[in-house]
Amino acid sequence: MGSASGSSHRATGPQAGRSSAGGLVRLRGRVDTLCREAFLPRDSFGREIDYLRLSLIDHCNLRCVYCMPLRGLSFIPSRELLAAGEIETVVRSALAAGFRKLRLTGGEPTLRPDLVEIVGRIAAIDGVSDLAMTTNGILLSRLARPLRAAGLRRLNIHLDTLDPERLQKLMRFASLAEVEAGIVAAAEAGLVPIKINCTVTRDFNDADVVELARRARDGDWHVRFIELMPVGGGEPEHAALSQFVPSAETKARIEAELGELEPVPAAGPCDEARNYRFRRGGDGIVGFISPVSAPFCGDCTRARLTIEGKLVTCLFAAGGADLRAPLRAGEGDEALRARIAEVWTRRSDRYSEE
Ligand code: SAM
Ligand code: SF4
Ligand code: SF4
Repeated sequence: MGSASGSSHRATGPQAGRSSAGGLVRLRGRVDTLCREAFLPRDSFGREIDYLRLSLIDHCNLRCVYCMPLRGLSFIPSRELLAAGEIETVVRSALAAGFRKLRLTGGEPTLRPDLVEIVGRIAAIDGVSDLAMTTNGILLSRLARPLRAAGLRRLNIHLDTLDPERLQKLMRFASLAEVEAGIVAAAEAGLVPIKINCTVTRDFNDADVVELARRARDGDWHVRFIELMPVGGGEPEHAALSQFVPSAETKARIEAELGELEPVPAAGPCDEARNYRFRRGGDGIVGFISPVSAPFCGDCTRARLTIEGKLVTCLFAAGGADLRAPLRAGEGDEALRARIAEVWTRRSDRYSEE
């Protein structure tokens, strides 16, 4: 084996043909990448277009204290949501405009009855370099395998604590058994690596971060601790402000109990977490997402497509460019692509750094 590859420049047999063809393919791939990067739209701060989050639905089967109130919610009528075929068209144009990584989210994306169809349609489009989903995991026991078969690659699963009673108080209506069964089903279906999202909320789960981090130290979990952001107004916004815990405090608590953490290099420019391994531990990783104490908006390469088809260049911005009206008026892929690229090049927001 070693000699075949090591002497390929001199060989005259079929191995040589394969090797030079392989080299040509690699060279062509590199040229394609360079050309693509040269023409990628950049916004007014030079940030490259990269990562698109697609909100599929505003409903949720839970009511996490910092996200949704128990009462007084109203939801968008289903005719106003983008249909599966419309999502496919927008994604095709978004990929042509330069987006490469896609994440499905909500609300709770697994409540969308056509979720497997949506994943299948998106996965079949050329140019998707990553297709992931964020979910509370409750329905994964049933959905993990069909989602994997349709082309979903990875999951982030929301789990705030390993204590069953505190879980119900924080992620209201969730049961630990259901979320844990979802994690197992996802791993068995090959939707890996799984990242666990824990939103740290004072007096609810701020002490439970240690047990979640222990799963990373003693096993191979990847757990990310997220700082609360004030979203949604009313009760959730009040909770996010009054129960805020800075990442530095969460990290210090984990290190005091479980030992020193050492930094791991960022996976890429759109990894919003600062990641660490335990100096004395297994392969697991703990990450800290700190949009309030250490905002990363200056490097933000993400945008969001809302459920009713608005393209928003910050996950927290109001408004956005309406793509649904032109889509329903029959605008084609190329016109949509130009529209999306223009939204990105005009981008000038930096949310937490403004
Ligand atoms: N329902 C899914 C879930 O819970 O993972 C997907 C949507 S949820 C909005 C996505 C992520 O946002 C969750 O992992 C949750 O931890 C996080 N999140 C929700 N409300 C938040 C808030 N006020 N501040 C920070 N993170 C929040
Ligand atoms: Fe639902 Fe996710 Fe919000 Fe919790 S964080 S209420 S699971 S959308
Ligand atoms: Fe980007 Fe900051 Fe907005 Fe998040 S809050 S989407 S990092 S600009």
